[in-house]
Amino acid sequence: MTWIRLGFQTLLCCLLLLFAPEVFGRTNARRTANEASLYSDADNVIMLDIGSLRPVLNLKTNKLVQFLNTFCGDCQRFAPVYKGLARDLYKWRRLLRFYAVDCAQERNAELCRVFSVRQTPSLRFFDPDTEKRQKFLGSVIPTQDPKLITAVLADLLGQYEYAADVANFRYLTPNDTAETVFRDHQGLDSPVKYIALVLQPRKAHIGRDLLLDLLPFKEVAVRIVPDAQIFANFGLVPTKESLAIIDRSGNAQYLEPASNTSQDYANTVGEFLKKLNFKPDPPLPIAVATNDNEFLDQRNQAVLAEVLKPPLKIYRADLEQAIDKILHNELHKYFFFQGGNDLALHNVMKALMYLNPLNKDGRELVTRVYRSTQRRLDKGSEFKQLIESEEKHLKVFKAKRYIGCIGTRPLLRSFTCSLWTLFHHWTVEAAKKPHHFQPGNILNTIHGFVRYFFGCSDCSKHFQEMANRRNMSQVKTSDEEILWLWEAHNEVNQRIAGDPITEDPQFPKIQFPSVENCPTCRNNNSEWRRDEVLKYLKHLYDIKNVSFYGLPTSQGYD
Ligand SMILES: Cc1cc2nc3c(=O)[nH]c(=O)nc-3n(C[C@H](O)[C@H](O)[C@H](O)COP(=O)(O)OP(=O)(O)OC[C@H]3O[C@@H](n4cnc5c(N)ncnc54)[C@H](O)[C@@H]3O)c2cc1C
Repeated sequence: MTWIRLGFQTLLCCLLLLFAPEVFGRTNARRTANEASLYSDADNVIMLDIGSLRPVLNLKTNKLVQFLNTFCGDCQRFAPVYKGLARDLYKWRRLLRFYAVDCAQERNAELCRVFSVRQTPSLRFFDPDTEKRQKFLGSVIPTQDPKLITAVLADLLGQYEYAADVANFRYLTPNDTAETVFRDHQGLDSPVKYIALVLQPRKAHIGRDLLLDLLPFKEVAVRIVPDAQIFANFGLVPTKESLAIIDRSGNAQYLEPASNTSQDYANTVGEFLKKLNFKPDPPLPIAVATNDNEFLDQRNQAVLAEVLKPPLKIYRADLEQAIDKILHNELHKYFFFQGGNDLALHNVMKALMYLNPLNKDGRELVTRVYRSTQRRLDKGSEFKQLIESEEKHLKVFKAKRYIGCIGTRPLLRSFTCSLWTLFHHWTVEAAKKPHHFQPGNILNTIHGFVRYFFGCSDCSKHFQEMANRRNMSQVKTSDEEILWLWEAHNEVNQRIAGDPITEDPQFPKIQFPSVENCPTCRNNNSEWRRDEVLKYLKHLYDIKNVSFYGLPTSQGYD
């Protein structure tokens, strides 16, 4: 516990908003149809977006907000933990509400930039007085361990003042009596019939924890007694007892918990109340499981059947989706382009400019934006405005659905799959004449994007570590570049193969390519034949072989 408190005190940091006027400026970002979400109200987690976050932060209660990217494996793996936490702490709902914001939604990209969301999942705590500090970006809770989060939250909740009839963590004073403590609950509609008095030596938490544990009982309030002598004010002879209860008439009695834990104290008070027929508020109802089969509607089933038909293909719809998300969500995450992300931005735009699989309008858009990024572009918001103004009269992103990257359940595959597809496509196209890029440049571009802009923090960390370990900077030829990315991707496949949360059973993680897709890629000892793998990748990811299936017309839209 000491560690939690120290760690919490040192790590918990309050972030300040630097440029307030931008907050929640534009709310007309496109809303995706059938938007999949990691949480629902039934989990006691409410999804917020650019329109609803600020009003919620202004509420006079505590708020825990998780900033996440739905496509990030870490966020998907954290979802059951967060749901469990929100379910367990539903009993604290008089003081604390749970929320989440999906930074992967285009309409929230600006919001997440303004809240400096550099890492997901990111837990931010907002106290009841947030409305007074519009520039406050929340206190970061730097752990994903539910026990630690609960401890940090208990600490935080105990620090604030609430309306007297909601909760009172302040110590009783030597002047307090039965009359003064019931004054807080005088309203005609106040349900409070008893007040539990709990002795809490300075620096202990038993009173605070008891107050939190008893929140589901609206008939009882808890007051913390710092000195056993104060029990005398309530007609009790101070003894070794630490827990007492008084009623509205001033009748007081000690209760005898089995041990000195808040849990036993809560059980004892709970039993006392239950004998009087007072029941705690019921826990959160069990959520009805969603039917993921509905996700695979007729259209998705047709797509899936097509995609699973051999041979394996690459689809322009996926490349388009990757670029759409890169331009509209990922690249304007930073307030400022400086200190490395500026070069990374320039490199990504250059790769898009010369290795562009989009239609005529798409090439036009990227060319215009690339030219502008060659001039000085200081802020993420400027990049966003640039994209918006340049694409106004262009018809670029039409597919709006993943094809080769379709998942059989909501949130599986999609963006990260399309990103890998684009990256492999880039390495293969860069190896062709007229060689716009020096060998290694494309890997460097991918590395810069993943380091600075990719919304999956865990992926980014692993990729950077892999780039060092696998000597990415030593790549000397374009062919080596293609193979470096292939091997790196296979390392990721191996690491996360079989993950029940992120793996799509229809698309298991394999050492790619499979024997079926490339029978010549392995020798008789099942070892790779790198020359054959190279040939296979060059064929698969070549723009000439990219399928238009799934785009609005069978000929594409050039
Ligand atoms: C740079 C990066 C790093 C990532 N790191 C992590 C991580 O650390 N942890 C995590 O949980 N998730 C990570 N992800 C996400 C993860 O790799 C998958 O993208 C995600 O799980 C979806 O998997 P998928 O089945 O769609 O196939 P993906 O792995 O996304 O692959 C997409 C398609 O590429 C083809 N392919 C597969 N392997 C290769 C290969 N070796 N060479 C060429 N083509 C191939 C296949 O056709 C496959 O369907 C990362 C993603 C990226 C882009």
